[in-house]
Amino acid sequence: MTGNYLFEEDRLQHIDHPVNAPSVYNGTVPIICDSVNSTLFYLRETGRGGGIEIRNMNSTVNYTNATDITSNSSSWNVVPALQHGIDVLFGLESSYDYFLQQFGRNSIDNAGLKLNGFINYSSSGVSFFNTNGFVFGKQVDSTVLPATSLEIVAHEYTHGINLYTANLGTIGEQGALNESFSDIFGVVIDHAINPTTANYLIGEKCTSNGKAFRDMAQPYQYLMPNTYLGTYWNTTTTTGRGSVQNYWFYLLAEGGSGINDLGNSYHIKKIGMADAAAIAYRALTLYLTPTATFNNARTATIQAAIDLFGTCSNQEEEVTKAWYAVGVGTNYTGGVFAAALFPTTVLCSNGSINPVNLSMNATSYEWDFGDGNVSTVANPSHTYSSTGNYT
Ligand SMILES: [Zn+2]
Repeated sequence: MTGNYLFEEDRLQHIDHPVNAPSVYNGTVPIICDSVNSTLFYLRETGRGGGIEIRNMNSTVNYTNATDITSNSSSWNVVPALQHGIDVLFGLESSYDYFLQQFGRNSIDNAGLKLNGFINYSSSGVSFFNTNGFVFGKQVDSTVLPATSLEIVAHEYTHGINLYTANLGTIGEQGALNESFSDIFGVVIDHAINPTTANYLIGEKCTSNGKAFRDMAQPYQYLMPNTYLGTYWNTTTTTGRGSVQNYWFYLLAEGGSGINDLGNSYHIKKIGMADAAAIAYRALTLYLTPTATFNNARTATIQAAIDLFGTCSNQEEEVTKAWYAVGVGTNYTGGVFAAALFPTTVLCSNGSINPVNLSMNATSYEWDFGDGNVSTVANPSHTYSSTGNYT
């Protein structure tokens, strides 16, 4: 009667349909799914990069025969085996968003590559990234649960970024660094999504007894080293050495002090997770190369800290100290500065001066004697050939 507008129901079905769906490990989570019609929904979306699609491998190793995961309602009340698909979609969406928002990175290749996730792979407990996509093993019994928790999906996503950037390998120190960068961003993304409940554990939700696979804050708890070549150093597993860089990251983000396995004492002031993550991202994507060593990672992260926060910044200092704490490289010595002492400033006739070099941590020198003569040696002597005032 009044012509007032009261209600509208949109009968169009949208490809990208936002819903709140029940995940296994993260409670009810916001995801985008594909609404084919009002009684058919797929775990697919097109809004992020080239899209994200999750499929069920039905306990096989065959990617091409994987089937869509469907729900007959937008509430996504599906059986637990398929519910892990919601965790994987949520994890990939969260990882995509984190790297886009923090670093402007559009998908793992920074060119919008479509992301494919697979659940119910034939082997239980496994999770990995390969050219097919992000793959998660099935559940066989109550002791080994599918590893689809947020930090593990984000861990696999970071392996994808590594493939298109540093391309660190899977063996030796490069393999250890590869695993560590994945752990770092797995935990960082967990903190971004769950700021009050996230921790530094990897995989604790995916075991029946709550025991994690790794602890970045206390590698010893899982018989992994916190010092390069230190206790539990293990040359047969990559994750068992990635813990050294994991602990470096933990010290940088949270601070800490102690005496390492080499007997060196350290005291690290926290720079916070956001700065530590920015430094790690820049090192991984700009400086590191496939055969990088721990020492290369040290150099790359120090350079990244200088790029982002400046020479002699607090961040550069703590990055260096944290590497020293885990047994890689020398301790921070206070930056580079120039100073000199001139014992003789007045000469009664032509004569020489011998300035005392007081500069610290320099690798090159440039002296200008004011009469047109220069020197690049550390401790020069100079003879003036005519009288005058020289600066
Ligand atoms: Zn990994």
